[in-house]
Amino acid sequence: MDCPSDQLEFPGSAGLHPGLVLGIESSCDETAAAVINHEGAVLSNVVSSQVSIHEKFGGIVPELAARAHLGLIDQVVAQALLQAQVSKCELGAIAVTQGPGLAGALLVGMSYAKALSYGLGIPIIGVNHLQGHIASAWLANLTFPVPCIVLVVSGGHTHLYRQEIDGRCVLLGRTRDDAAGEAFDKGAQMLGLGYPGGPAIDRVARSGDPGAIVFPRFRGGKYSLDFSFSGLKTSLLYKLREIVAPLAPDQVANLAASYQEAIVQVLVAKAFGALEQEKLAALAVVGGVSANSRLRVLLNERAALARIRLSIPPIEYCTDNAAMIAAAGRQLLMRGERPSMGMDVRSMGDPTSSVMEPHGRESSDFKKEATYF
Ligand code: ADP
Ligand code: MG
Repeated sequence: MDCPSDQLEFPGSAGLHPGLVLGIESSCDETAAAVINHEGAVLSNVVSSQVSIHEKFGGIVPELAARAHLGLIDQVVAQALLQAQVSKCELGAIAVTQGPGLAGALLVGMSYAKALSYGLGIPIIGVNHLQGHIASAWLANLTFPVPCIVLVVSGGHTHLYRQEIDGRCVLLGRTRDDAAGEAFDKGAQMLGLGYPGGPAIDRVARSGDPGAIVFPRFRGGKYSLDFSFSGLKTSLLYKLREIVAPLAPDQVANLAASYQEAIVQVLVAKAFGALEQEKLAALAVVGGVSANSRLRVLLNERAALARIRLSIPPIEYCTDNAAMIAAAGRQLLMRGERPSMGMDVRSMGDPTSSVMEPHGRESSDFKKEATYF
């Protein structure tokens, strides 16, 4: 390390402008590092995917993920600094994913970030992965308005939030079982399309008919902003059992297109239901599933019709990346969050995070007349 310091805690830095921020993300199967500048603009965004390691198992193997992060993290960080044309001594702070995620995978990023922070004598801040995804809505759209509704749709989460100006995120609805990305991944597995399933279904569905098969769409009550995808998944399983002969390519395309349509229509309906209930006119849709081409088309069409401001990140910021972690960490530091070398990973997430549950209010308590389907 060429610019050492013996500082462990950084009480004086809280609430100050952090300057250049290095973000590190290792919660799942992407090893990622990024640098953002003093205005929050992305200078570099490096992601090393482990798909080739896990695809033969049809899903992520936690121990293999942790080992791969260990082997990759140093070069991914070096690459991010090189692309940003920044020396590590110029960094003002480090933001690292604290959770939720795979404990072993998170530990690699956290230990690396702590060592770098200690060596450089700069603050380190832990970031909730969901807050990172939420921050991605502003990476390429710095002036997107707040308050707004945020739909987080990833492999592990399908959550609807109201983002407040003070940084709080109030949970309005969430999946009761599988996440939307999980529904894509499991559906693709059943259709023999491999892993990761979302991009595979997206690709195959382009030549299929989304109206060919009617799959169930979860509603959960007139005012509910909750989601459920387990019934849809079972429905696909039963449809496949009815087909005795091997699936022809056009059958796979029709099944994929119809299955995808059922997922994305529910996402769009609930997101616009939340806008109506909260009387807001700005919607951000983030997380891996926001890369889905059909979802992006439907959201853009509906937003144009309803005159809703829409922010869907560019594809590179939809799936896991470190630019979003750096952006969320920068916001936390600027709001006065205390950096801490003593923090640990939180594989189940952080109950005290500003990504919060509603205060005694169930999303189904809304009494306003509205139908979303
Ligand atoms: P995590 O859940 O680890 O935060 P990501 O935010 O990277 O993961 O999202 C990964 C999920 O996004 C996976 O379930 C993947 O199938 C899904 N996904 C990625 N691209 C697409 C796409 N084009 N269409 C639908 N789903 C997608
Ligand atoms: Mg993610």
